[in-house]
Amino acid sequence: MKYDIIIAGGGMIGSSLALALAPLCLRVAIVEPIPRTSAAQPSFDDRSTVLSRSTQRMYEAMGLWDDILEAATPVTRIHISDQGRFGFSHIDAAEQKVEALGYVVINRVLGSVLQSALSEVPNLDILCPAEITAAQLTPDAALATVRHADGTSEELTCRLLVAADGARSSVRDMIGISANHVAYEQRAIVGNLLPEKSLHNCAYERFTKNGPLAMLPIADGRAGFVWTVADRDAERILALDDDSFIAELQDAFGYRLGALSRLGTRASYPLHLSKAIRLAATRAVLIGNAAHGLHPVAAQGFNLGLRDVAALCDCIADFDLDDPELLQRYADWRKDDQSKLVGFTDGLVRLFSSNKRATRTLRSIGMLGFDMLPGVRSLFAKHTMGLAGRLPRLHAAFHCHE
Ligand SMILES: Cc1cc2nc3c(=O)[nH]c(=O)nc-3n(C[C@H](O)[C@H](O)[C@H](O)COP(=O)(O)OP(=O)(O)OC[C@H]3O[C@@H](n4cnc5c(N)ncnc54)[C@H](O)[C@@H]3O)c2cc1C
Repeated sequence: MKYDIIIAGGGMIGSSLALALAPLCLRVAIVEPIPRTSAAQPSFDDRSTVLSRSTQRMYEAMGLWDDILEAATPVTRIHISDQGRFGFSHIDAAEQKVEALGYVVINRVLGSVLQSALSEVPNLDILCPAEITAAQLTPDAALATVRHADGTSEELTCRLLVAADGARSSVRDMIGISANHVAYEQRAIVGNLLPEKSLHNCAYERFTKNGPLAMLPIADGRAGFVWTVADRDAERILALDDDSFIAELQDAFGYRLGALSRLGTRASYPLHLSKAIRLAATRAVLIGNAAHGLHPVAAQGFNLGLRDVAALCDCIADFDLDDPELLQRYADWRKDDQSKLVGFTDGLVRLFSSNKRATRTLRSIGMLGFDMLPGVRSLFAKHTMGLAGRLPRLHAAFHCHE
């Protein structure tokens, strides 16, 4: 057996898994087709990602948090509003008795912290550029065919194959697990700009007639935005010159932060919901987007994936890699958290996409109740921070700080 574990996909989730496994001294390989420094790498791009408190704790336990923190901006308040409706709701770090609700980091920066930590892990082979082109599972081993950039292929055996190859996971198909996909017919346009007024560490989420628009605090007084628009409008909006683009964005966001200016580079992502029908097969498991791809409305996809990583590490630490109970335990553990977040984000997108009068009224009542009842806010905040439900050991290591 060449490896104990082969991880298909060296994106943010696959790389984090290899780092979390390091103390267990297993023989691990990551197989990744696209180098981190390439503009085509889907995980380590210029998007701003909100890291939850649970993600912070896991990276603390892995000894990486100080390096991530250097380039991260804390979020101490979340402001939620509905375009065309009076009023807003909010969640405050002080009310939740935490120093921050989460942290915003640029994926590329997170990628370089993970990459330099990976270079110090013993017993880890990073096969890149290389991809898994076939997989075969038997009760004794998983067999992966790996094709290298020079066209040569080799067959590698391992005790556990982990699919971390994203929402369109081909390894998931190779191991016979299907997934449900729903296209939202929306695109997320992301970029950054300079608002006239400081965000003061507040993250804004505004539900507009097209879809949600997030404005996130990042370094140098700038704001990272994630603007969801309908597919039918995306091409036109992306083709606008900078001034016209800002005028439309300003119209959707309003003047809460004064005039918006100095637009950076824009990029766009199609939005889908995907959910694997199961999480494990003989000697194989799914983690991260390979298991669940969410709408970015609640900024939870990566955070949820990192909780998969922590739970899988817990199970690997507790069971022999050859014990089928390991995979069952992992699948049972993660089922609930994943289903709840898939349901929550999908429900939020549908609730706020509707322009029917009854839904809009329900929404206003919901926002009002949400803002007036601190208990409801706390529960929502706990989910947003990733602190609800059963927490893995990697996470609990830092529980005592609060
Ligand atoms: C606009 C936007 C904003 C977002 N904001 C947030 C946020 O604020 N907070 C949050 O928590 N989440 C956020 N997300 C979600 C988050 O980006 C994803 O959940 C996360 O990137 C998933 O990482 P991953 O490693 O599972 O998958 P991916 O990033 O898709 O990585 C998969 C990797 O597998 C590799 N691969 C593919 N095929 C193979 C193969 N056959 N063999 C080997 N390797 C292969 C790919 O090259 C890639 O590197 C956002 C998403 C979008 C679109």
